[in-house]
Amino acid sequence: MSRFWSQVVRDLTPYVPGEQPKLANLIKLNTNENPFPPSPKVLAAIQGELGDDAARLRLYPDPNADLLKSAIAKTHGVTAQQIFVGNGSDEVLAHVFMALLKHDQPILFPDITYSFYPVYCGLYGVAHESVPLAEDFSINPADYRGRPNGGIIFPNPNAPTGRLLALDAIEQILQGNPDSVVVVDEAYVDFGGDSAISLVDRYDNLLVIHTLSKSRSLAGLRVGFAVGHPALIEALERVKNSFNSYPLDRLAIVGAVAAMEDAAYFEQCCQAVIATRDTLTGGLQALGFEVLPSAANFIFARHLQRDAAQLALALREKSIIVRHFKLPRIEQFLRITVGTDAECQALTAALTSILN
Ligand code: PMP
Repeated sequence: MSRFWSQVVRDLTPYVPGEQPKLANLIKLNTNENPFPPSPKVLAAIQGELGDDAARLRLYPDPNADLLKSAIAKTHGVTAQQIFVGNGSDEVLAHVFMALLKHDQPILFPDITYSFYPVYCGLYGVAHESVPLAEDFSINPADYRGRPNGGIIFPNPNAPTGRLLALDAIEQILQGNPDSVVVVDEAYVDFGGDSAISLVDRYDNLLVIHTLSKSRSLAGLRVGFAVGHPALIEALERVKNSFNSYPLDRLAIVGAVAAMEDAAYFEQCCQAVIATRDTLTGGLQALGFEVLPSAANFIFARHLQRDAAQLALALREKSIIVRHFKLPRIEQFLRITVGTDAECQALTAALTSILN
């Protein structure tokens, strides 16, 4: 047994999620959740589905989540056959690694990126190559040309840097890799980027991943989706159906539909986060931080004199938690989720007292 166990431990290095503290009264700026509640229409839809006696929970949900696929298709101007839904975008990504990325050649992703990608590679036994980011932490499309690969994946904006890649650069990567699937993980795109969904009808090797966890304030409901050519979507459906035909429960389906349909509320929350991000950026710069340009609901910043790990610790003592990665090149950075105005003011005030 112990030999078996050590093999498992060697082969599977699991993802370590950001801390979800049990303590109340913390200002939680560490896992990029939205500071605002979901649209009130989400609550109404879930209450409607539950009714007085929750009797509908006796019944299995729609295995195809057709209502949700239609709502997503309508929002993004594509067809329902171009949509795949899953239990959070992490589950969608897990299926992507299995169904769409070729396992006989290395998968390419940036050296500083979402730390789940190498975990999936480990799980499925796929080789990968990390492509170094440029000096300014941007992705250079030329680095993804002429490099045989089993697929390419990157977040846009990238995580944890927040840097955005323009659509024409994404097109260069697509054109340079016509035989590979290029996966653009747009978990944060609604906070200031242009979505590559506008390209899916022109590139059959493009798959775009979205989540309702960030811009729709539904991290707790677990809903994500992919948009791409119907053949890519069909491949994902086949893998999903080999595991489990019910990707989403009844409450998640109706709640997600309501969130997708409330465009006005969505816009209002995104604009509020963007405005607070700009104020927070200015506040941190005034305190001596270098802040990378962010198109996400977080910022990535380093203080020019003070150690990031110590700053994170000092903030925690003041009941504010931010994310610090002990990784090469970024260990002097803090990743700070954009909270409410009041939370960000409390953060700036705490840093002012720590730094003085
Ligand atoms: N992609 C990126 C880049 C992320 O940062 C996250 C959130 N940790 C996800 C995907 C997964 O989000 P979820 O599973 O909540 O949809």
